[in-house]
Amino acid sequence: MATERSYRPKKTAPKPTKTAEERQAAMEKIVSMARRNQDSRAAGYREKSLRIHPHVCGRCGREFSQDNLTELTVHHKDHNHDNNPEDGSNWENLCIYCHDNEHSRYTEHLASKTQALQAEEEPKPATHNPFADLGKLFNK
Ligand SMILES: [Zn+2]
Ligand SMILES: [Zn+2]
Repeated sequence: MATERSYRPKKTAPKPTKTAEERQAAMEKIVSMARRNQDSRAAGYREKSLRIHPHVCGRCGREFSQDNLTELTVHHKDHNHDNNPEDGSNWENLCIYCHDNEHSRYTEHLASKTQALQAEEEPKPATHNPFADLGKLFNK
């Protein structure tokens, strides 16, 4: 098979400049790397907050040592986990119980706000009233 060699293209041609696809791929790689860095930065906020703030729960004042430090969590004061200023102004060290408490209060707050909004947006009366029977009970 002596002729086979002649079918192959010569490899001496200079490499063409990057195609749009290649540039796009390179760009995506950079973006995904930047995202990963951001993720690891965000994950590091607990460590940073524990370094900046005393190992004491900001609500109940419980003190923590190395042994139970895992029960001390970092709360975002504005509830935005992407808001991680380096000075720690958005972080608060809270024990898991107080942290839980803080979030359920916030959830209730959000729920009442959402209900108020829905009430404004949907003035139409509900076609099905789950409390109709309750009204009958009271009118007895
Ligand atoms: Zn606490
Ligand atoms: Zn929190």
